[in-house]
Amino acid sequence: MSAVVLRGTDVRRLLPMVDAIEAMEAVLCAHARARTVLPLRTVVPVAGHGSLYVMPAWTAEPEALAVKLITLFPGNAAQGKETHQGIVVLFGADGAVEALIEGGSLTAIRTAAVSAVATRALSNPDASVLAILGSGVQARSHFEAMCAVRPIQRVRVWSRTTANAAAFARVIQEATGEVEIAVAESAREAVRGADIICTVTGSPIPVIEGAWIDGGTHINAVGASTAKTRELDSDTVARARFFVDSREAALAEAGDLLIPLGEGRFGPDHIAGELGDVLLGSRPGRLAQEDITIFESLGLAIEDAAAARVLAHSAAAETGLGRLAMD
Ligand code: NDP
Repeated sequence: MSAVVLRGTDVRRLLPMVDAIEAMEAVLCAHARARTVLPLRTVVPVAGHGSLYVMPAWTAEPEALAVKLITLFPGNAAQGKETHQGIVVLFGADGAVEALIEGGSLTAIRTAAVSAVATRALSNPDASVLAILGSGVQARSHFEAMCAVRPIQRVRVWSRTTANAAAFARVIQEATGEVEIAVAESAREAVRGADIICTVTGSPIPVIEGAWIDGGTHINAVGASTAKTRELDSDTVARARFFVDSREAALAEAGDLLIPLGEGRFGPDHIAGELGDVLLGSRPGRLAQEDITIFESLGLAIEDAAAARVLAHSAAAETGLGRLAMD
């Protein structure tokens, strides 16, 4: 009895963005059909460092039972280390450990793939101008994901540290000859006239304001994942049709929603629906071309489980992968 071991390089090779997007759409639909088990994640604060997240889940489509253990230590970035590190354990049908998967790479791909699903469902089909706020791991995967679902022609990048924005812009410019990439001097300049905005920063306070956003824009709000931190100001959220990955998780953990809720700007019915409901057609998504739409991404353990299942499936056809004896 042994489990396959997938390193970060294996994950990036065996989980192409297009496959991840389809798997994320399937699992979000399964969630909307109540074909998943998704307890709220357990967060263990680690004094002076960050948090450990424990994220178990089961999903029927694709069938997968898994748990992700991942640390978020924001201070690692200053030492040139990854801020997200961990592992996903996938179990087989008989309950045996089937795969041990490097968690940072899986998280980078599945999160961007979910944003791609949201963008395909909620943005205007001709959206071609993309703003990315942030320049880290998620910024890179989100660039690839947005290009996979919309005809992106121009990208404006902003990040807190201008040198990091410039380095990120160089990397994505090399990856694509045809897309025009520019570094913006401010977040405001980056989002002006953008059709799609991805906020992928570790900022605890808003990086965009409602007055800067044009009608018709779609926003993937990805970076903030606690009740007290947010990337969007209250005006941005109040102006938009607001969609979530999980209503239960958003009402527990999404500062982008909970802070304006606490200010009395709107009630919980401001949530227009879960993304899975929009995908199934049981909730309307964008109603008009001029709507501003927001997808609030907290990240769900069912997404990790579904990505792990796709990886295990691809790995089955490979030879030479690492294995860990379990007996
Ligand atoms: P990285 O550490 O690779 O990058 C972090 C980015 O955030 C950098 O561009 C950094 O800017 C910026 N940043 C950090 N602190 C601040 C701040 N105080 N103000 C403004 N910008 C800041 O992280 P990832 O790319 O992996 O993750 C980005 C965010 O997304 C994180 O907050 C993370 O927790 C969240 N996340 C969400 C997931 C989900 O499912 N919704 C899944 C995974 C991550 P610079 O380098 O220019 O200083």
